[in-house]
Amino acid sequence: MAKLSITDLKDLCAKRVLMRVDYNVPLDETGAITDEKRIKATKPSIDHLIQAGAKIILCSHLGRPKGKRDPKQSLKPCAVALGKLLNKPVAFVDDCIGDKVDAAVAALKDGDILLLENLRFYAEEEKNDPAFSEKLARNADVYINDAFGTAHRAHASTEGVAQLIKKRGGQCAAGFLMEKELKYLGQALANPARPFVCILGGAKVSDKINVIENLLKIADVILIGGAMAYTFRKAQGFNVGGSLCELDKLDLAKSLLEKAKGKKFYLPSDQLQTTKIEAGAPTQITQDPNITDGWQGVDIGPKTIEEYKKVVSTAKLVVWNGPMGVFEIPDFAKGTFEVAQAVADVTQNNGAITIIGGGDSAKAVKKAKLADKVSFVSTGGGASLEYLEGRELPGVAALSEK
Ligand code: AMP
Repeated sequence: MAKLSITDLKDLCAKRVLMRVDYNVPLDETGAITDEKRIKATKPSIDHLIQAGAKIILCSHLGRPKGKRDPKQSLKPCAVALGKLLNKPVAFVDDCIGDKVDAAVAALKDGDILLLENLRFYAEEEKNDPAFSEKLARNADVYINDAFGTAHRAHASTEGVAQLIKKRGGQCAAGFLMEKELKYLGQALANPARPFVCILGGAKVSDKINVIENLLKIADVILIGGAMAYTFRKAQGFNVGGSLCELDKLDLAKSLLEKAKGKKFYLPSDQLQTTKIEAGAPTQITQDPNITDGWQGVDIGPKTIEEYKKVVSTAKLVVWNGPMGVFEIPDFAKGTFEVAQAVADVTQNNGAITIIGGGDSAKAVKKAKLADKVSFVSTGGGASLEYLEGRELPGVAALSEK
């Protein structure tokens, strides 16, 4: 069912709009924000609300204060940064519930903005505590969620508060950022363009079992890379040397291989291996699926790169989650970067829709300077994985239907 969007909300003038944003920004040791992109990303939704004359109340978490007030994890610097970005004062209140918040909200004029203090200074936030949700909801007529990255968590600010506002007859909508995530990921799964090629890599099969199971049902081809390939190889009875491998997940890998029978499910046909995960360590390329003891696979090899590039070049839809190797070390990054280039090329040359899951694959595409050459880079690592598993995210489920 389609969810209400920020553009569906009418008569926002003078309404108190509580918007969940993701200002979980990186800070340096002095407390300064080192990357403002999460703040910048919320500008379209905030601009829209300013123009509509809403009273804008922003809430977010920052870091992991675990229910304790920690000045180092205050959102105050975000209020300053947002004010500069909008060229407009942004009020800040050093709490997210209670009398001070009530007073700050009461002082808002139409089009004003208020940022509340870190939600996670209260343990009740992550517990989705009903009384805490009630306190958050008290000052809101309308709710917007523009924080896809936390939508897979049923927290007070993502789920509880929305349910309460809906119960009172208020509307709960997706902000522009959230809407874009739902559009790309939702469309990919509900109505995939074909051929639909899915590329899965990263460290562990166990993190992505449900994604593999779900995508085996939907995708036309699955390309496997990264360390998870060695858990599959081990499950097939090969020696994987010192490669990262989940020995306790071999049965699971076997059952996935069984389910993949008759499907286009590719494992790497060669690999780059090394004696140590370290820049400058000795390397060699081998095609034998058995890896000698003392060596470990750290990237897909040139033959696999060519095979995977060829498959990707035919795609009309690509979903990619997880790097092909230890891309953080340049010596082991070729497979990931070449696949990133193939994904960018098929977007540009074949009109394919290409979606990069959050987390490390997003980092890799940015490192390869190709983020603007693919269709969409998801902002939520865990949230996009759960979406790809076919699960409904609590923060999305809680929004009003169109
Ligand atoms: P994930 O969070 O599951 O997507 O895993 C990403 C991590 O997997 C990155 O830090 C990569 O360095 C790591 N990784 C990918 N391939 C390998 C490999 N062959 N051996 C060890 N680590 C790997």
